[in-house]
Amino acid sequence: MSNDIITELLNLPQVSVSNIDIVGNTTIIYLTRENGKFVCSCCRQTVGQGYDSRTQYIRDLSCFKYNTYLCLDKFRIYCPCCGVKVEELKFARVFSHCTIRFEDYIAKLCSILPVSQVAELTSLDWKTVKEIDKRYLTEKFSCPDYSCLELLAIDEISYKSGHKYLTVVLDLRQTKVVWVGQGRRGETLDKFFCEIGEGNAKNICAIATDMWDPYIASIRQYAPQAKVVFDKFHVIAEYNRMIDRIRNEEYSIASKSGKKAIKGSRYLLLTNKENLGQSQKERLRELLDVNKIISTAYILKDELKMLWQCGSKEEADSFLIDWVGKAIASSNKDLCKFSKKLMRYSYGLINHAMYPINSAKLEGVNNKIKVIKRRSYGFHDLTYFILKIKQGFP
Ligand SMILES: [Zn+2]
Repeated sequence: MSNDIITELLNLPQVSVSNIDIVGNTTIIYLTRENGKFVCSCCRQTVGQGYDSRTQYIRDLSCFKYNTYLCLDKFRIYCPCCGVKVEELKFARVFSHCTIRFEDYIAKLCSILPVSQVAELTSLDWKTVKEIDKRYLTEKFSCPDYSCLELLAIDEISYKSGHKYLTVVLDLRQTKVVWVGQGRRGETLDKFFCEIGEGNAKNICAIATDMWDPYIASIRQYAPQAKVVFDKFHVIAEYNRMIDRIRNEEYSIASKSGKKAIKGSRYLLLTNKENLGQSQKERLRELLDVNKIISTAYILKDELKMLWQCGSKEEADSFLIDWVGKAIASSNKDLCKFSKKLMRYSYGLINHAMYPINSAKLEGVNNKIKVIKRRSYGFHDLTYFILKIKQGFP
């Protein structure tokens, strides 16, 4: 094949192929530069002459079975405005050792595969792969659009052991992560509202969140018209934590046979009944037969879930009062405490009848973020993790 044809196949501006070499599984394409066209990487003006140069190898898309490198002279130029600067090539970023099209390919692979697998496929170091993907995502999410936010959900996720949290804001209409901030304090959410601006905050009709005062205070300050909704996903998650506490308390005071029934029952109590196997269902029944408090808490959980099916504010209000009455009648201190909390936050539970926010969607998002977290684990790069979360919800 003549060098002219390979130059045409290569399809890069301002260079032509002078030679090709194959070493093992690598091919090196030697390039000649077009004379007199150097661009200052600082001010982008064209400069006629190079100042000095050195040979550089730039990774490009693979050619058949070969990892492909372009070998060319890269120049420093003397720019009348900026002084001695590195030139800018049209097909590679200034300090990158890869062509732009190869970097785009890496970023596409990273959207479907973990970094380690992309590194293996492309014979690159994982740090290089990660940095390429990170740069691509940083550019992609540099100008977010906050103009159509009406229905939001705010969630917190832990990203490290030792109580390190992120605040995640979701656009529920588009099922999209619109913002992620470090921490879960009121100030964290304040930053979100400041970023979207007063005008966009006024468009928000309702926000689903946890019964978490710092978030609620921030919403009241920056989007006072927005209705706060406590969704099923968050409330039942909190109820499950309470059941777990009751289970531990009951275990500590149980007889030998009672302990046997409670031991290892955490999964049975916290999982939806439909998802349990036959033998698990039997074990659960045995436990509920021998322990009255655990049984009451379990039955009340199923009943509480019906709250989010109420079609009007009035219906939700009377349902809640009825449920709280039953919980208090149990005389269990955990259940009483939880009931009082529900009454304190009843406005947001009742608001659900007006803004029926889909909790399954929220749970799905939460699970997907957990998968992204597992995939990004080991990089210890919070900025990258946040970018990957945004990418996870196109
Ligand atoms: Zn310049």
